[in-house]
Amino acid sequence: MRTKILGVSFDNITLHQAVEKAMSFLQNETTGIIFTPNPEMVMLAQRDAEFAEVLAAADLVIPDGIGIVWASRFTDAKISQRVPGIELTLALLEKISHTGHSVYFLGGAPGVASAAAAKMQEKFPNIKVCGDHHGYFDNADDAEIVAEINAAKADIVLVGLGFPRQEKWIFRHKEHTCAKIMVGVGGSLDVFSGRVRRAPGLFQKLGLEWFYRLARQPSRLLRQFALVKFVMLVVSKKGRNLE
Ligand code: UDP
Repeated sequence: MRTKILGVSFDNITLHQAVEKAMSFLQNETTGIIFTPNPEMVMLAQRDAEFAEVLAAADLVIPDGIGIVWASRFTDAKISQRVPGIELTLALLEKISHTGHSVYFLGGAPGVASAAAAKMQEKFPNIKVCGDHHGYFDNADDAEIVAEINAAKADIVLVGLGFPRQEKWIFRHKEHTCAKIMVGVGGSLDVFSGRVRRAPGLFQKLGLEWFYRLARQPSRLLRQFALVKFVMLVVSKKGRNLE
């Protein structure tokens, strides 16, 4: 079942159900796209029509952020819980370490994707890592990267180029790759690599992960205005449909 928040559709499912659904994509002929929008991304979709269209084309859209769950209180179909993208990605990696499917890491500053891949190889010794590439390349390099993904026969590609670049990149190339799953993972590769620490459990539990990241990286402050605008827009539509 899907719930729309300010025009963006979300799957109203648990982490467990999201993992099952994602794993089912591995049986398909086509590429399954997974996105994990937060309120900042929903706000961008209000003014970037291409981004909104790309989000709508995803096969699995999980609510990454307590703000989305909160906003769903104003809709008919409430979203019962947040599903952090990083947890879905970790759960997927754990699953494929038993099935033999392969994963390619794309994104982050030079060195991050390879460090993330190495750390995941340590964490899940049986996982099949089939390649990595940093995320600071030009559009002119797209074809080469896609060819590398295909040569490596990647089943899953984790794409951490920041939004909206990663979503648009996935959408643009999904039909050119052999991958069965492409996931927009944002800053998760930084966390996997060990260069960035995820918020401690208590912050996660209280839905304050965004606050922890802001405190550690004050340069993110400007981005938080999108959150304020999101809250104002949702409240102004209170009682009306959030579609
Ligand atoms: N990034 C990248 N290429 C770019 C821009 C960003 O690989 O052209 C990476 C950046 O290094 C970081 C990630 O994309 O690893 C975005 O992280 P951020 O924490 O901003 O993402 P969020 O999780 O908030 O979407």
